Amino acid sequence: MMKYPFLNLADVNEPYFAALKEAAARVIDSGRYVGGEENEDFEEELAKYTGTEYCVGVSNGLDALRLIFRAYIELGRLHTGDEVIVPANTYIASVLAVTDNGLTPVFVEADPVTLNLDTARIEEHISPRTKAILTVHLYGRACYDKYLADAAAAHGLIVVEDNAQAIGADSDYPSAKGTYRTGSLGDAAAFSFYPTKNLGALGDAGAVTTDDAVLASTIRALANYGSDTRYHNIYTGYNCRLDPIQAAFLRAKLPDVDKENARRRTLAAVYEAHINNPAIKKPLLTSPDGCVWHQYVILTPYREQLRQYLTDRGVGTDVNYPVPAHKQPCYSCYASLELPVAERLGHEVLSLPISACTSVADALEISQIINEFRND
Ligand SMILES: *Cc1c(COP(=O)(O)O)cnc(C)c1O
Repeated sequence: MMKYPFLNLADVNEPYFAALKEAAARVIDSGRYVGGEENEDFEEELAKYTGTEYCVGVSNGLDALRLIFRAYIELGRLHTGDEVIVPANTYIASVLAVTDNGLTPVFVEADPVTLNLDTARIEEHISPRTKAILTVHLYGRACYDKYLADAAAAHGLIVVEDNAQAIGADSDYPSAKGTYRTGSLGDAAAFSFYPTKNLGALGDAGAVTTDDAVLASTIRALANYGSDTRYHNIYTGYNCRLDPIQAAFLRAKLPDVDKENARRRTLAAVYEAHINNPAIKKPLLTSPDGCVWHQYVILTPYREQLRQYLTDRGVGTDVNYPVPAHKQPCYSCYASLELPVAERLGHEVLSLPISACTSVADALEISQIINEFRND
């Protein structure tokens, strides 16, 4: 048992146990176990929180992304073989959603400071076949700026947000619609409520937000066997629906998501103020609203040595992510790509504890322990 666990989901959810049990009981008593009012209420509440017209609850974050791309194909806005700009540094699910739909990912190098997609390099990757940008607000940091918005506008590209890690973050650059909140910046956004995310369900869950009524209804149909009304199938769809028991759990936790994000910001500020080991590079501290710190990721060329050192002192850590998508066995077709920043990040990133199980006192002690680390 670690003195400073990286994450303990029972502890994270403990303050919500009473509300979660009440939510579960409500669903059990309702007799409605697929769809229904819990889903509708959650969708309305998440759309309101995000600042979009529509929200469709779905089974998980990967399905949310897959459904967005598939819906654009059904609507004739995307076609097999079209190119989609994707960040080279992301969780592989972002890329899987693109290739699963027969679209071609075009990997763009990571920005060595934000660790997000290097938006200044989007333009040079655009070809006549480029039809969309998938921006990922990685580690909770909004990835939306003038470069991205201008490239999308100049080439008429669809902007899809992978908002799995950044619920509640605000970009400091406004979208074309004048919004700032992640999930409302592009044409459609995918959310994941995997239990470890900033808003975590007690199982798999996800959602799509958008202002596009037609896209929303297409996704809703695709997620329900492709049927618009019962026994009337307009698409060869899937079963990717949100479980109402998860919707009920999420409704119990959504009102506190800003408070939970504020707690993460406080911990990030403690690390920023107190970690001062020259062997370690701390993450960029931008405007306070711009990042909800899904992960607090430091960089060090001595990653494995530091990780072992921390484990020996009871500090749990994680690596997000050790191998970029283009170096995974399933994407051997992209193995010859050279993306040195993303590849270096794979060797240097280390995520420190930043969940609700970490106190300010813990973060101070962890900073002290890190400051005493010496690479040899
Ligand atoms: C978690 C995550 C996903 C996938 O979400 P699931 O709910 O686990 O399917 C996609 N993209 C990113 C960036 C994620 O962190």
